[in-house]
Amino acid sequence: MPELCAKPFSLPRAVCCVQEALQRASDVLSPVTHHPRLESELLLSHILQRPRTFLLAHPEAQLTAEWALDYAGLVARRAAGEPLPYITGHSPFFGLEFTVTPDVLIPRPETELLVEHALAWLKGRPMPVVADIGTGSGCIVVSVARQCPEARCYAIDISAAALAVARANAARHGVADRITCLEGDLLAPLPEVVDVILSNPPYVAETEWASLPISVRHEPRAALLSGVVGLDALRALLQQAPPRLQPGGALFVEIGERQGDAAQALARTAFPTAHIQILPDLAGKARLLTVYKT
Ligand code: GLN
Repeated sequence: MPELCAKPFSLPRAVCCVQEALQRASDVLSPVTHHPRLESELLLSHILQRPRTFLLAHPEAQLTAEWALDYAGLVARRAAGEPLPYITGHSPFFGLEFTVTPDVLIPRPETELLVEHALAWLKGRPMPVVADIGTGSGCIVVSVARQCPEARCYAIDISAAALAVARANAARHGVADRITCLEGDLLAPLPEVVDVILSNPPYVAETEWASLPISVRHEPRAALLSGVVGLDALRALLQQAPPRLQPGGALFVEIGERQGDAAQALARTAFPTAHIQILPDLAGKARLLTVYKT
C-alpha cells in the first residue's frame, strides 16, 4: 500500500460540480488506496445519499457549498488512513450490506469462503444449531441464517459493543429471531451442544501489528491480535470445542496464510480421530481450517 499523503484537500467554498469534486478527491486519495476513483464515488454518494449511478449519470450536477465542505471532511479522514467502511458506516459481505463501527472488524472477502463451506455442509441437515464465536459485526452468522432458514444460531463475542452491532445486523437482515447473542469468552457462554462451530478469530501475531497497513490499525486490536504468533485464540477455541460439538458435527475456522501446519496440528490434538483439512482461499493461500468430528 502506498504511503500516506501529506497533500491537503480543499474544495472552494463556491459550488463545484460532481465531476470536479470526484477528480480532486481521486487525486488526494490515490496515495492511500488502489481504488481512489471508486472510493471517491462511494464517499460522495454517501454525502449526497444517492447511488453511485447517480454520480455517473450526472457529472455536471452542482454541489452546494455545504455538501462540498462535508465531502472534503470525509475525504480528509480517508486520506489520513481511516477505513472507508468506518466513514460510511457499512460494508458489503456475501451479497448483503452490514453495519460496521470501529468496534468490529470490517468484513473481508476471504471470510466468504468460510460461509460457503459452512452452507455446503449445512445443506440438507434439518434444524441445525450453529455457533459463531467472536461474531463481531455478525457477518458470518447473519449470512448463514439468511441462507439456511432452518438454522438456529448463537453469536458470541467478548465485546458488548461488537454484540450490539451484530444484533443490529441480525435485525437489519430479518434473522434476529433465530440468532441468540451472548457476551463472553469463546465457547464459555454456549448453553448447548451444537452441530457446527464457525469462527473468524483474531490470528495476527502481536509482532506484526506495527507493520500492518494504517487502515487495518484503525480496527479493534482484540479482533486481530492473538498472542506472540497469532495462534492463542485458535488454540483455546480448539481446546474448548470437543465437548461442545455433536458427534458428526463440523468446525470451520479462518486462519492466517502461514498457519496451516500449526492449525492442523492443534486440531489433531483436540480431535484425534476427526477428518481435518486446510483449504486455500481464491488467492491460493491457506485460509480455512475444517474439522469433521467423527
Ligand atoms: N484477515 C485479517 C487481516 O489480515 C485478519 C483477520 C483476523 O485476524 N481474523 O487483516
